[in-house]
Amino acid sequence: MKRAVLLAVAVLFQTLPLVCAEDLFEIKEVAPGVYAAIAKPQYKVNCNAAIVMLDDGLLLVDTHSKPSAARALIAQIKTVTDKPVKYVVNTHFHWDHYQGNEAYPSSWPAGVEIISSEATRENIVNRGIPRVKHEITTMPKEIEGLKAELAKATDAKRKAELEENLRQAEEYLRELKMMQVTLPTMTFDRSLILHRKSRTVEILWLGRAHTEGDVFVFLPKERVIASGDALHGWTPFMGDSYPYDWIQTLDKAERLDFAVAIGGHGDVMHGKATFELWKQYFQDLMDETAAAFAGGATLDDARRQVSAKLMAKYTGRFPDTFPKDVMANIEKAYRVVSGQTD
Ligand SMILES: [Zn+2]
Repeated sequence: MKRAVLLAVAVLFQTLPLVCAEDLFEIKEVAPGVYAAIAKPQYKVNCNAAIVMLDDGLLLVDTHSKPSAARALIAQIKTVTDKPVKYVVNTHFHWDHYQGNEAYPSSWPAGVEIISSEATRENIVNRGIPRVKHEITTMPKEIEGLKAELAKATDAKRKAELEENLRQAEEYLRELKMMQVTLPTMTFDRSLILHRKSRTVEILWLGRAHTEGDVFVFLPKERVIASGDALHGWTPFMGDSYPYDWIQTLDKAERLDFAVAIGGHGDVMHGKATFELWKQYFQDLMDETAAAFAGGATLDDARRQVSAKLMAKYTGRFPDTFPKDVMANIEKAYRVVSGQTD
């Protein structure tokens, strides 16, 4: 009797916050026991996660920009299953994909393996951790900026938006200061395959792409792939990328037999059309920028000439932020074709 009461209280306690709090993710089942957790917009972006049910636990792909976001997803997952998370995969080293790692071992102290490519683990150590420290020093200025903007705002809707952004920014800084950067505990060079009775999970490094260490998580039986930021529903971010390799890597990934792709951002993708779009876009971006550079174009010239061509061809095929994103991509492409970076 006592136990039943306790259980009822526990159930009530677990479900209560879900009624009150806004969920950070929309969970969509893409195959039996395989889910996409699509991140809702936040001031500090959260990536999507893929959730794979195994016989004895769960495998999660990517952990968002902060432990509280990962904990929010854990709370949502607990409404679907009581299986423990046993494996977490970091697709690459960017802040919005690994900074929530801490939440998993702290929620399941008995053991969670965090898996990444060796290159990604190295990049978290050498570039991710310094970035966290840097952000702790720059966030106060960002917060001051938001406060100044809020003080000037007159439109009620904009004011409410800024107030919410400010709240999230302050919360984020507080969390960054407390965060225990949690590194991958298991790494590999090319592939790591989990064989379970119910399904097989292939974690694959197919070449350099969005970063040098990107991995894909492929479920051959269910024909699902999780692609991190090597492919997603927004405009590609190319800051740490290897554009020519990226085309080859997408080519290899595309040859795998899948029907559904869960990207690091944006909605679930069906079929392979986005792979074709991105490959063509990178090819056009690099060809046009190389031609402009060969013709003596400065960076400013290239910005004008190449963006005119890419805007004409790709507007409407990428999200509304494309005009801004394309400029950053042209700058990256110019650095590559002019030999400033590889
Ligand atoms: Zn991302």
